[in-house]
Amino acid sequence: MGRNTADVAVIGGGVHGCSIAYHLAKRGVKTVLFEKDYLSSGSSGRSAAGLRYQFGTEVNCRLAKYNMEKIPHLQEELEYKADLEYDPAGYLWIAYSESQLDQLKKNVALQNSLGIDSVILDPAGIKEVAPGLNVEGMLGASFNQKDGHVNPHTMNFAYGDAARRLGAEIHTKTAVTGLLTDNEKVWGVKTEKGDWEAGAVVCAVNAWAREVCGWCGLDVPVTPERHQILITEPVERMKHPMTLCLDDGSYWKQCPNGTFMLGWGNPDEKKDTSYESSWQFLEEVSKRVVAKMPCLKGVRVVRQWTGPYGITPDEQAIMGTTPVENFYFVGGWSGHGLQFAPSSGRIMSEIIMGEEPFLDISCFRFSRFEEGCLFPEPACI
Ligand SMILES: Cc1cc2nc3c(=O)[nH]c(=O)nc-3n(C[C@H](O)[C@H](O)[C@H](O)COP(=O)(O)OP(=O)(O)OC[C@H]3O[C@@H](n4cnc5c(N)ncnc54)[C@H](O)[C@@H]3O)c2cc1C
Repeated sequence: MGRNTADVAVIGGGVHGCSIAYHLAKRGVKTVLFEKDYLSSGSSGRSAAGLRYQFGTEVNCRLAKYNMEKIPHLQEELEYKADLEYDPAGYLWIAYSESQLDQLKKNVALQNSLGIDSVILDPAGIKEVAPGLNVEGMLGASFNQKDGHVNPHTMNFAYGDAARRLGAEIHTKTAVTGLLTDNEKVWGVKTEKGDWEAGAVVCAVNAWAREVCGWCGLDVPVTPERHQILITEPVERMKHPMTLCLDDGSYWKQCPNGTFMLGWGNPDEKKDTSYESSWQFLEEVSKRVVAKMPCLKGVRVVRQWTGPYGITPDEQAIMGTTPVENFYFVGGWSGHGLQFAPSSGRIMSEIIMGEEPFLDISCFRFSRFEEGCLFPEPACI
């Protein structure tokens, strides 16, 4: 039997792994991707899929500009048959204290300085863009009308399909079980269905990163954290943007099909990759959101699920080369990674090809933790 070989092996079939495979295949690189379950089965398909320009660090704002310009045309670029459901319904970040409002003002000043037209709203302005809100206790908000929503599954599948069409091999239901290594160099992967030799291996497993990096002796500070979401039955479409409340971290939005998606980050949630969800979440999120959006009272919940964030100490991603030769890493995007897939696919392909990335992302380097160069993202949920 002949040896299985590829130029690049990608581990993980989330939106980042599939975007990397697409960008590499487009350049004629022989690429193979392994996903232990189905494409979009991890964080990507479990995401709230909010899109935004509104970040509080320069690098994320610059990347967001690239991504927010790409995503509306992604379906055509990837020649995908199903709708990616891009919907610029807007995104509100709501402050309940002066310090929260000060931070939002700083974020907006940074965004404006980079050509992003977000604004600060007072409670009357909030009511104008989201008439259904109970604005009691709200001091103000930041808002961008071009922020919005995408369907996370079709976005993930669209990258996977395009990669395949361009020649990438995608193996689902195929876990990578180890790395082929010698002398601090990786030269392939071990999978449930045999070994593959590869000139470069990309770890794109997000919340599962510690296990995979451990196979080549790397200790990566990415901690999984469970996050739950629920979805309601559809109700009549109303003017309502994605809304995030900084008092308790609850958030919700209306999807294009009329359903409402509700989330809340419980600080006591377990730090693992389990997909279990709880009654406690259902009660807590409903209580919190209905108080702020009274018209949702009585709307029925149809489904609830859990997905893992991959959290780093500064809640910023890790991207690029690693101390191990031929082993590349992307992950740790906290609760905002879905929308960064277009830029990460392009940048990772550029790095793997030995080119300068189109944007300087050196602040995301693997070594920043031991160098003490953390740069926290203030606009995190
Ligand atoms: C509840 C929730 C809400 C979110 N809301 C938003 C939002 O509004 N906006 C936003 O932009 N982002 C959001 N995110 C974050 C976003 O979903 C993630 O940052 C992003 O999807 C990460 O993509 P990924 O490809 O890195 O990881 P994943 O999608 O997790 O993909 C990693 C894949 O690796 C696979 N894998 C693991 N181990 C192995 C192995 N050994 N072999 C083979 N395959 C393996 C997994 O099965 C998984 O499919 C949210 C996340 C959650 C959980």
